[in-house]
Amino acid sequence: MNASIITIGDELLIGQTIDTNSAFIAQEFNKVGIWVKRRVAVGDVAADIEHALDEEAQQSQIIILTGGLGPTADDITKPLLNHYFNGKMVIDPGVAKHIEYLFREVYRRPGPISERNKKQAEVPDVAKVLHNANGSAPGMWFEKMINNRKTVFIALPGVPHEMKGLLSDEVIPRLLQHFKFPHILHRTAVTAGMGESYVAERLIDFEAKLPKQIKLAYLPSYGMVKLRLTCQGTHIRKMEEETDLLFEEMTFLLQDILLSKKDEPVEAVIGHLLLQQGKTMATAESCTGGNIAHAITRIPGSSKYYRGSIVSYDNTIKEALLQVPAGILQAQGAVSSETVEAMVKGALQQLGTDYAVATSGIMGPDGGSDRKPVGTVWIAAGNEEKIVTRLLQLRFEREQNIEIATIQALLLLRK
Ligand code: ATP
Ligand code: MG
Repeated sequence: MNASIITIGDELLIGQTIDTNSAFIAQEFNKVGIWVKRRVAVGDVAADIEHALDEEAQQSQIIILTGGLGPTADDITKPLLNHYFNGKMVIDPGVAKHIEYLFREVYRRPGPISERNKKQAEVPDVAKVLHNANGSAPGMWFEKMINNRKTVFIALPGVPHEMKGLLSDEVIPRLLQHFKFPHILHRTAVTAGMGESYVAERLIDFEAKLPKQIKLAYLPSYGMVKLRLTCQGTHIRKMEEETDLLFEEMTFLLQDILLSKKDEPVEAVIGHLLLQQGKTMATAESCTGGNIAHAITRIPGSSKYYRGSIVSYDNTIKEALLQVPAGILQAQGAVSSETVEAMVKGALQQLGTDYAVATSGIMGPDGGSDRKPVGTVWIAAGNEEKIVTRLLQLRFEREQNIEIATIQALLLLRK
């Protein structure tokens, strides 16, 4: 059973908004065994939306749309769907009541509700209304026989958190009632410190003997490679047994570079390790400007092991708050092994933790020299007994360089 996702909005086509909705829907569909065959983005143009509907109905039995359901003039999806399915616009009393409730109790707007907002309670009489708990634009479910198959069209608002609520509370439960899907099972491992092609070389024999229902995918990013085994089938128990056995074999072959047997970022891995050992950590960041702190604190429960950060961007702050000796800063410069080592020491002392990491570098696009070109970054990590430092020579744009330095600094903490 295939699904197509159509995302609607001029903002998606000009790149002003990044289409995160279709990635989210694809992930959620995948979990319940719905295979997404195509993802299409179109502008707020009636003819283009209709064309996309016609086309996707030939490809898939489930067509899900997001965007353009709102009350403003550029939102044309609802009247268009009404026309497409030969409906008539009628006020849905349930939606009308929900809009009343939202405006009075949740948004606490005084005075009467505008006609524009009242109009949001209008839905095509041929649609089944899907309750949008987080907003005023309801979702809609249409059915039509196409090529002798029941085809379902689902329209959801574009606002990501509204779309997500509708998807999990209304859409997926309904789809599971209507259709029977095969199971799709994923097992993901994360490795660090070895390039994709080297990892692939290690797994040549393993890959060659994989049964045809199990696929191996390589997903490299920033010094790490994710390996995903995917199995499709109907007997979930058997699939789990078979896939888990292969997954164990694969992770055993990669044990020296294995970061995690789950699909999780390095900051989560570090978090588990610190929790296990009952240890704490701190960060002293120059060129990453707090990005390591940000990554760590995005993990729920990080307060149990993370104490804080000193973002010492300027040399005077490195001296004053981290006690980096002025002599080192003058002789070696801020971007040096000695400086990041001193930053780790300063953080351990000032923030009173078991471990600390530090970064100092030139992220670009300007500011490099012959001796220290743009992309020169020193990172350090350690505790009272041992501090390791490492030189990175990054060659990307500023944002990416910050991201890589963040990941590499956290990886260094494992050493
Ligand atoms: P509303 O009732 O809030 O007006 P709507 O269905 O009309 O909902 P849009 O006006 O199309 O939604 O978009 C609302 C917001 O959601 C906009 O900020 C838009 O950029 C964002 N958005 C729309 N589509 C997507 C998408 N595919 N991925 C991420 N964000 C999106
Ligand atoms: Mg819109």
